[in-house]
Amino acid sequence: MTILPDLSDLIIEQVSVTNGVTVTVRAASPTACCPCCGTICQRVHSHYTRMLRDLPASGRPVHLKVDVRRFFCQESTCRRKIFAERFPSLTLPRVKFTLRLQEALREMGFELGGEAGARLGKRLSYPGSPDTILRLVKQDQLPTTPAPRVVGIDDWSWKRGLRYGTLICNLEDNKPIDVLPDRSVQTVSAWFEKRPSVEIVSRDRSSEYAAAISKGAPQALQVADVWHVAKNLTESVQTLLARGPGRNTAYWAAYRQCQGKCQKRWNPCWNKKGVLLALVASN
Ligand SMILES: [Zn+2]
Repeated sequence: MTILPDLSDLIIEQVSVTNGVTVTVRAASPTACCPCCGTICQRVHSHYTRMLRDLPASGRPVHLKVDVRRFFCQESTCRRKIFAERFPSLTLPRVKFTLRLQEALREMGFELGGEAGARLGKRLSYPGSPDTILRLVKQDQLPTTPAPRVVGIDDWSWKRGLRYGTLICNLEDNKPIDVLPDRSVQTVSAWFEKRPSVEIVSRDRSSEYAAAISKGAPQALQVADVWHVAKNLTESVQTLLARGPGRNTAYWAAYRQCQGKCQKRWNPCWNKKGVLLALVASN
């Protein structure tokens, strides 16, 4: 990381150091390219000063004071008669931060969020309000993902007890794919209709999700997620035990007799797990 950003197409005219560092620069080229028609222009209309914030240097804030020229566009058919020169290697139009400061704030936003990122930035002399940091995060390009084949679907709360959305994850790389605003059949089925690559869907016991998947991805195999398999098993055992010994007396008697020491692997009295599975199978 250099102290100053890329100023290869600029001329440094002055550097002043007080509580902060101020670097005065201007463009090196006598001409500028019209952003509308691309014509190279050299007739200067006027000047103005643009202030940019950059990464801090040794804890001191750094300002770039840029002399910006306005040019006449010499292309008669161009709708822009006057334009301001741009500095694509330094910043974007109508932005007060350099590109590398924007990138730093964006990274802080991804790691900490808006409020915490702004608090840390203030201590480190990084300017940027929570709203600015979140706006930079939202402007970032989303990574492209391969067509999902095995997905998991579950609800999550925008506001607990009041409003729920749907979270969809790719179970092959364990990464979230999408967040849907609600968990209605219409919304969820529309998502699956756009993704015919889905072959397997892991879900909870929601009848709405079952209907949505059947409607949007009829080719997909629906399976219960691990948590609900365990839940189904627990409920089956509880239901069975609530009935009393009755029809399962033989299993319990066998288990008590061998004390779990039976060496017949598939005998239900072989161990507690065997007894458990036998009880569920007989339910
Ligand atoms: Zn033009």
